[in-house]
Amino acid sequence: MITEGLEWYQEALLVDAHNDTLSRMRDGEMDFCIRQAATHTDLPRLLEVGMSVQVLAMFAAPCANKSISLHKILSYAEYAHQCIEHDPRLLVVQTKKDLPSPPPDRDRLRVILGVEGGDCLGGELWVLELLFRLGVRLLTLTWSNRNALADGVWETRSNGGLTNFGHEVVGRMQELGMIIDVSHLAPAGFWDVAKVVEGPFIASHSNAAALCPHPRNLTDEQARSIAEHGGVIGVNFCQPHLTDGTARLEHVVEHVEHFWRVAGEEHVGLGTDYDGIDTPPIGLEEVTCLPRLIQELEKRGHSQNRIQKFLGQNFLRVFRDILPTVSGDDQRHQ
Ligand SMILES: [Zn+2]
Repeated sequence: MITEGLEWYQEALLVDAHNDTLSRMRDGEMDFCIRQAATHTDLPRLLEVGMSVQVLAMFAAPCANKSISLHKILSYAEYAHQCIEHDPRLLVVQTKKDLPSPPPDRDRLRVILGVEGGDCLGGELWVLELLFRLGVRLLTLTWSNRNALADGVWETRSNGGLTNFGHEVVGRMQELGMIIDVSHLAPAGFWDVAKVVEGPFIASHSNAAALCPHPRNLTDEQARSIAEHGGVIGVNFCQPHLTDGTARLEHVVEHVEHFWRVAGEEHVGLGTDYDGIDTPPIGLEEVTCLPRLIQELEKRGHSQNRIQKFLGQNFLRVFRDILPTVSGDDQRHQ
């Protein structure tokens, strides 16, 4: 791993707000806790690169049968808990106190369980409650399709925002202390969230439309709104979200710098989308390449302070703000 000249990096807390590794491991019958050749990340490599907190997204492809999508998400959650129970290097984050503080603990990876797409809720709030009990702390309201909560970005004609159920879910998530994620959400739904949510929400893996006009990317206006709410945008490594042609590490840096200019350095983080993307940018082929991104940011004259916020401090601030103080179990015994 390349860390030459990056001694300070050993002290940085790294947070990645989105990868799809868990789903890939479960589907491919691979072991997340063992080094794999076929994936972009795994537990050994995440520890090697010094990841402190990884959001593990659980994604079920949209399906007309809501039971099938819930079944899939539950199988990922069960797999995640098996890994956490069997490997002492893994800890699950459910409350504020589970989040790391400096110096980083290089032998432990903290994971936040996230669900990508509210399809599995099937229009029923009790499923959200159940997922919370299972430790899920983040919900990406939609994937790119329409679901019972709102339209995703592929729904380009209907201009649908949050449904009544979507409003209920967003309201309950705030009460429970769950992270609201607007990546993949169509513009009308985004602005509904911005209107009804007072505190921070995040875009876990979204890039800048000003640099690459892909429907998945955020306009400058949206980026500013996330910043005004105190939230964070996670820049992702998905080639079509970065540029028209071949994506390189430099394109990622340009999206980061753009959001720094538009939203401010307190509001940009990392949301790699590793194992959810087919072709990572040249130079960032898998997770242990991350120090190269830091080298490039330093080369361009950005301060360590600014880079550390991007690497993890910003997302940690928001997670600390949103997550519950005590777990459900603690609450019951008080
Ligand atoms: Zn995604």
